[in-house]
Amino acid sequence: MDLKSFARKITDKAGSCRLLLDEPMALHTTFRAGGPAAVFAEPENGEQLRDILFLCREDGIPCTVIGRGSNLLVGDRGYQGVIIHIGDAMSSIRVDGCRIEAEAGCLLSTLARTARDHSLTGLEFAAGIPGSLGGALVMNAGAYGGEMKDVLREALILDRTGELRWIPAEKLDLGYRTSRLQKEEMVGLAARLELLPGDPEAITACMNDLAEKRRSKQPLEYPSAGSTFKRPEGHFAGKLIQDAGLSGYTAGGACVSEKHCGFVINKDHGTAADILAVCRHVEEEVERQTGIRLEMEVRLLGDF
Ligand SMILES: Cc1cc2nc3c(=O)[nH]c(=O)nc-3n(C[C@H](O)[C@H](O)[C@H](O)COP(=O)(O)OP(=O)(O)OC[C@H]3O[C@@H](n4cnc5c(N)ncnc54)[C@H](O)[C@@H]3O)c2cc1C
Repeated sequence: MDLKSFARKITDKAGSCRLLLDEPMALHTTFRAGGPAAVFAEPENGEQLRDILFLCREDGIPCTVIGRGSNLLVGDRGYQGVIIHIGDAMSSIRVDGCRIEAEAGCLLSTLARTARDHSLTGLEFAAGIPGSLGGALVMNAGAYGGEMKDVLREALILDRTGELRWIPAEKLDLGYRTSRLQKEEMVGLAARLELLPGDPEAITACMNDLAEKRRSKQPLEYPSAGSTFKRPEGHFAGKLIQDAGLSGYTAGGACVSEKHCGFVINKDHGTAADILAVCRHVEEEVERQTGIRLEMEVRLLGDF
């Protein structure tokens, strides 16, 4: 079945779900690169999302769920399938004492500020991470000594069979930038977090301090997906790349940031192919010089 006809099937089943055809993924990723998604769907609730996943499975159509696209590189030839974007329509946050229940589409920064506004500490690390809660569950996002694992109690998961259930954090295999959601292609719909009472002024001061650290060390003025590579055991990716003489290494419009070598940036209208070419060269050159193979933290999607 061609994807345009398939989009009509989605409309029949999940009527009010926003659907876009041939939607450029450069508009939905922080790298600002990437070709079109044949079908781009923005469900309003978990039921619509489940319906779309069900239809895709039934017809054998490739399907991927994304959040804010801040850890994602989509190929220039796009994605021949359905990309489901969990965004603002699924981003409610509810606070009850020291507990927060939030939907996957909420921004981590909004979540961290909401916690602060309720005098809750524990999410300061997340305030400067430009992703969604769903993406943070999948990646076990973390920074400056904190990570999702520290605050997550349980997550509402839709598994590949279409079953919906709350899974306790300790059963989600949360590790360094990894989780069971990644390995088993589960969809994260919501999460319950447990925080501690704190002083809002101290929380704000901590967030401001971390934001200043980011501004001074990271190339936030250019499109990127944050740290491009995972930290290899016992090393820092940025230092290995710097020591390999790759600071500023360029392919087309993409390059290794001279401000922070751990970031590959889209400096001047680079394509996904440019960005990937820089990444591959970095992996090969660092391995040739040190024997250490860097692993990309950024997730690749679609046809390059
Ligand atoms: C400037 C900058 C700074 C950054 N700093 C940090 C940092 O300090 N620490 C850190 O950990 N990360 C950092 N990141 C990376 C990124 O923000 C995180 O990995 C974030 O958690 C990704 O969330 P997202 O919603 O953008 O996910 P996306 O990029 O949309 O998706 C990431 C992966 O998760 C999958 N996915 C997304 N949502 C769901 C869902 N609900 N269910 C199932 N699968 C899903 C996608 O298919 C994809 O494989 C940074 C990025 C940028 C651009």
